[in-house]
Amino acid sequence: MAEILIIEDEEPIRELIKMHLSLAGHSCIEAPDGKEGLRCISSCSPDLILLDIMLPGMDGYELLPHISSRSIPVIMLTAKSGLGDRVKGLNLGADDYITKPFEGLEIIARINALLRRCGKLNGIKGFDDIEIHLEERKVYKGGKEIELTPKEFDLLNFFIDHRGMAVSREKLLEVLWQYEYEGSTRTVDMHVQRLRSKLSTEKITTVYKVGYRLEI
Ligand code: CA
Repeated sequence: MAEILIIEDEEPIRELIKMHLSLAGHSCIEAPDGKEGLRCISSCSPDLILLDIMLPGMDGYELLPHISSRSIPVIMLTAKSGLGDRVKGLNLGADDYITKPFEGLEIIARINALLRRCGKLNGIKGFDDIEIHLEERKVYKGGKEIELTPKEFDLLNFFIDHRGMAVSREKLLEVLWQYEYEGSTRTVDMHVQRLRSKLSTEKITTVYKVGYRLEI
């Protein structure tokens, strides 16, 4: 089960999608315009976004960069079947598109395929021979369980969700330590070193003067 954010101004379409999603076992959050969509993107961290292009206020094209910067998979919903519009959306970071009117079965098949590609359908994601099982909060390397502390687990999960991106020490402190933070980015360095050593991986690299990056 995944949480899907639907950003779409036409209520009947939202209702229809919602019905199909709930039949497929997914839950959903609805946003009727671009501004509300933007608010939900930052506050709800959905697993996937269905994004209408023609929206009042802020349109889908304007929202796409905000979505890609958070690495949330996105499928465009568009009444336009023109090649140019689809290409524009894909270039701005959309992963897939569905042209209206659509069939319920098609939308679910596309959502599930994209969730699977992102490792979000069955709660398992990873890289190389490393897998994390989100529901059980367990980590395996080459099929063998690796004992991680809760912070190390969260750190690994964060790196996987932001793979390929340089993540600053300050950002990691803010997101993973929140109010427990007592002053030093060295806490982050110590956790990263332990994580690297427990996983015997060289994929978590140091980004000079910034922080770290999980290499793709
Ligand atoms: Ca619309």
